[in-house]
Amino acid sequence: MPVTDEGIKAICGIDSAWNIVSVDVDHVNETFRISVDSDRRRFPCPGCGNECPVHDFCEGEWRGLDIGAYKTILQAKLPRTDCPECGVNRLVPDWAIEYSRRTWKVRKYKNKRNEITQSL
Ligand SMILES: [Zn+2]
Repeated sequence: MPVTDEGIKAICGIDSAWNIVSVDVDHVNETFRISVDSDRRRFPCPGCGNECPVHDFCEGEWRGLDIGAYKTILQAKLPRTDCPECGVNRLVPDWAIEYSRRTWKVRKYKNKRNEITQSL
């Protein structure tokens, strides 16, 4: 059964504002590298939530949940919004945790694993 873009988005916690651009499989290093992008040119300001134009983009990379024995790396060009009230701010996408290079799904899985380990 083929894995669809929607399936990959569900596994990685990617919301509808983002599109899968490419999925590269590296069998030597057992890695899935998933690139995402967005067609939107306005995003909510991280400070006040108002829709603002994009100032520029900066590259980001996060470790996602493993798919089988393969590591998952999520890549995106993240917009920095230009807000008249808050200034230029980097967006934290829905799959990420601020200041973390892991997705929230990785954190959730690790917390669940720790709970199970502690209960044994
Ligand atoms: Zn703002």
